[in-house]
Amino acid sequence: MRAFSRRQFLQLAGAGAVTAAIPALTQAEELWSTGSEKPTFKLPAGAVDCHMHIYDDRFPSAPGTTLRPPNASIEQYRKIQARLGVQRNVVVTPSTYGTDNRCTLDALKRFGSNARGVAVVDTSVTDAQLTEMSAAGVRAIRFNLSYPGATTVDMLAPLASRIGALGWHVELVVQGAKLPELERHLRALPCPLVIDHIAHVPQPGGMQSDAMRTAQRLVDKGNTWITLSGPYVDTKTGAPAYADVEPVAKAFIDMAPERMLWGTDWPHPTEKAHKPDDAALVDTMAAWIGRADWQEMIFVANPVRLYGFD
Ligand SMILES: [Zn+2]
Repeated sequence: MRAFSRRQFLQLAGAGAVTAAIPALTQAEELWSTGSEKPTFKLPAGAVDCHMHIYDDRFPSAPGTTLRPPNASIEQYRKIQARLGVQRNVVVTPSTYGTDNRCTLDALKRFGSNARGVAVVDTSVTDAQLTEMSAAGVRAIRFNLSYPGATTVDMLAPLASRIGALGWHVELVVQGAKLPELERHLRALPCPLVIDHIAHVPQPGGMQSDAMRTAQRLVDKGNTWITLSGPYVDTKTGAPAYADVEPVAKAFIDMAPERMLWGTDWPHPTEKAHKPDDAALVDTMAAWIGRADWQEMIFVANPVRLYGFD
């Protein structure tokens, strides 16, 4: 809950009734991130944030959706980008909008050539709509099987067979515990698969879990990518070290650095009570990756290849 809207703030400022403390408070609350420092790690030139969302209540929430964060705008995200030192990003349609991708498409238009998109569609989507979205910068379809919503596992195969011609891939977000039962569907995909949020390997005991073993088999097969994002979702040991998630992330990185991606998950919609510090998250990920050549791959070369950045 923000203390002041920008308009209220400007009114207060105009009336001379504002103290020096209020601008900092207002800005911090509006950017959906803790802290205001830059990362200690300097992201390489051309780095891509592969997973972030825009929320805009000009677009209606889909009936039955449970995750409905407040607006998170392009202007707010620009400030986070400037703080992190990153210019390129991938806008992912959140569960909130069901199969309505207008919010993402609107954002792609405004972000321009430095952005790509991930859409949510069901099997009623037409080839003409897919082609149109491709021209607008969409490069993948998302299956969010974590929240009850628009897409189901039955749609994986039929949709995946249609997007191959566009050079798109499938992005999956699902509780790690469900990965074993999905494995045969995922192994059969004819296109690349990206599993978000470090495969949502559950904690504690992540390294010994069936989820971890399944995700490792998928990565080992050669067509599966992992997004290094959202360590706060499954951690039990917490920020900023996420010590329980660290060996999980490092195991994936060691297996296939050429298929790792990084994303902020801004505005961190699952973290309602306390937003993480985006700069600290960059530092944590960079430290987990560890090697300069792998940092260059994961922050720049891999996403450029997968999402077709210039
Ligand atoms: Zn997300």
